[in-house]
Amino acid sequence: MHHNGSPNRILVIGGGFSGLTAGIEAAETGAEVIIVEKNPYLGGRVAQLNKYFPKICPPLCGLEINYRRIKVNPNITFYTMAQVDSISGVSGDYNVKIKIKPRYVNENCTACNACAEVCPAERDSDFNFGLNKTKAIYLPFEQSFPLRYVLDRTACPKDCSAPCVAACKYNAIDLNMQEQIIEVKVNSIVVATGWKPYDAAKIDNLGFGKVKNVITNMMLERMASTNGPTEGQIIRTSDGKPVEKVAFVQCAGSRDENHLPFCSYICCLASLKHTLYIKEQNPDAEVFIYYIDIRTPGRYEKFLNQVLEKGGVNLIKGKVAAIEQDADSDDVIVTAEDILSGTKIKQKVDMVVLATGMQPEGLEFKVPGLKYAVDGFVIDADGIYSAGCAKNPMDVAGCGKDSTGAALKAIQIGVRR
Ligand SMILES: Cc1cc2nc3c(=O)[nH]c(=O)nc-3n(C[C@H](O)[C@H](O)[C@H](O)COP(=O)(O)OP(=O)(O)OC[C@H]3O[C@@H](n4cnc5c(N)ncnc54)[C@H](O)[C@@H]3O)c2cc1C
Repeated sequence: MHHNGSPNRILVIGGGFSGLTAGIEAAETGAEVIIVEKNPYLGGRVAQLNKYFPKICPPLCGLEINYRRIKVNPNITFYTMAQVDSISGVSGDYNVKIKIKPRYVNENCTACNACAEVCPAERDSDFNFGLNKTKAIYLPFEQSFPLRYVLDRTACPKDCSAPCVAACKYNAIDLNMQEQIIEVKVNSIVVATGWKPYDAAKIDNLGFGKVKNVITNMMLERMASTNGPTEGQIIRTSDGKPVEKVAFVQCAGSRDENHLPFCSYICCLASLKHTLYIKEQNPDAEVFIYYIDIRTPGRYEKFLNQVLEKGGVNLIKGKVAAIEQDADSDDVIVTAEDILSGTKIKQKVDMVVLATGMQPEGLEFKVPGLKYAVDGFVIDADGIYSAGCAKNPMDVAGCGKDSTGAALKAIQIGVRR
């Protein structure tokens, strides 16, 4: 309790690893926390990773602890499929409008899948970057939290007689759900809106969307995941062939004034991790990493050395000039300049992985009422604190620490009253 007797109230925008950390840490000191998440599930991008370093453990090992802390803490309210519509007021006293989209599935859902079995319509899986499809009514992913289906009405055919409603034994599907706007009062706000993968199709010479078997690093994360579109098999999308030779293109869109001007911090480490994924499935596979500078900051240097010890990992310093389809096969031809030897390389590989960077959500979509730098990262103000990748590209461990710091700043606003 504080001077005026009302509890300290904090809004957290974004329910990824950063938002969950900030929200839970604050709530465990007694603050009342509201988490607003635009996806139908919590966990953010980490939920899409196969494994994450430094421990190379599955994302659920970190997320599940947080889900459990949320379940047992009455101070936390969260809204999925929700976004902030407006923010007014001043530090210590904000009024926030939150818009909640209809999920069409209520809390009676037991995730039994009977609805999806009879659903006649399909949609591209956004969780799997379009590598496969889901039914129009679907579970975002196997272990999603909340464990509840969601209906994408835009994928429903007009003449559908809604067999899903009939198939649901629990009365969980409600086609009359409407968009809702709720208003909350909070003392402070933590902004943890994170990042999205840079759109690889914007990089003309790298062939994405034009040349077969050119994928992005996040697509590879989904492929390597046992709950992913290929059930964990790293294969070519064109013909299902297990990969033997793979090229990684670093800084695909990062450190480039025409795309993302900053270093995304994670992509060198991600490609090294992906090398481990590939080597695990095929120890004889050969990997070629085209880089400008290999960045494995601080203690991550050890990770670089661990990966290089596996053998068959070729680091080539040079910019990739072109990526083209082989004339006689589904192979991909990479043309690059090897800066260290001064030679031009033309190399045939099974698959190319573009190490696309982390674009802050704020570059294309700005939460009304917040301030942003030109590169899309959030600018803090008194009572408004960014956390994790909304502030700067960082790894999950960094997000944990940064978000704990943001939680403390947010708590202080309520205590100050
Ligand atoms: C290929 C790749 C591999 C990686 N591998 C690793 C790894 O092995 N180890 C590691 O430590 N890190 C890894 N990372 C980095 C890791 O993904 C990030 O550190 C982490 O996702 C950051 O968490 P976050 O909560 O800040 O952002 P996010 O995970 O992006 O979460 C942000 C959340 O906010 C929500 N949101 C966004 N905008 C709004 C809005 N306006 N309203 C409501 N909600 C909103 C989003 O839907 C999302 O749920 C990798 C990154 C890449 C690109």
